[in-house]
Amino acid sequence: MSLEVVLATHNQHKVQEFQRILGAAMPEITVVAYDGPEPVEDGVTFSANALIKARTAAAHTGRIALADDSGIAVDVLGGSPGIFSARWSGPGHSDRDNLDLLLAQLADIAAEHRGARFHCTIALVVPEALRAGGFEHVSEGVWPGHLAAASSGANGFGYDPIFVPDGYDISAAELSPEVKNQISHRARAFADLIPTLRSLL
Ligand code: IMP
Repeated sequence: MSLEVVLATHNQHKVQEFQRILGAAMPEITVVAYDGPEPVEDGVTFSANALIKARTAAAHTGRIALADDSGIAVDVLGGSPGIFSARWSGPGHSDRDNLDLLLAQLADIAAEHRGARFHCTIALVVPEALRAGGFEHVSEGVWPGHLAAASSGANGFGYDPIFVPDGYDISAAELSPEVKNQISHRARAFADLIPTLRSLL
C-alpha cells in the first residue's frame, strides 16, 4: 500500500531529506510539500510549533501531515536560543550572524558551563477524514554536547561549527554528513517517527 504524506515546509531540501530518510525505511512513502495557508507559529515550544504546522497542513489537504521544528538550547542561557534559533540575531540575519552572536554571548563562560543540545521535533497529524477521531504523535530527538570557544569545520549548517557532540572532540561541522545523519537530533526524532508511521499502514 502506498502512503503519501504532506510535509509542512516550502523548503525543497527538507522535502528531499524527509523523502530520503523515510523512503529508506518505508519505500511505499512519498513526501510532498504542503502548499496552502500558513499558520501563525505562536507556540512557545518546539512541539507546539511543529503541531501547529502539521495540524494546518492536515486540515487543508485531508492527508497525513508532518512538520518539524528544531533548534539549539544552551544551558547557561536557560534553554535559549531554543525556538528562536533561526532568528537569534534578528529577522533577516544569516546563520553566521546567529552563531557569532551566540559565541560572543558565551565569550566569558568556562568550558564546563558551556553545555548545549540540539532539539528536533517532528509532529505527525492524521486528519479525521482518514481515521475516526484523528491521530497525533510528536517525535522528539535530542543531541547533547557543548559549545566550542570558536567555530571550526565546513560541513552542515546553522550552529554546527560551534557544537561539539558528547563523545567527540570535533564540531558537528567537522563530522561527515553520513555520521551526522546517523547520530543527530534529527536522526533520533526519525527513529521514533518511523515505527509510528509504519503502524498507520
Ligand atoms: P528550523 O527548524 O528549520 O526552523 O531550524 C531552526 C534553526 O535551528 C536553524 O536555522 C538552525 O540555526 C538551527 N538548527 C537546527 N538543526 C540544526 C542542525 O542540525 N545544525 C545546526 N543548526 C541547526
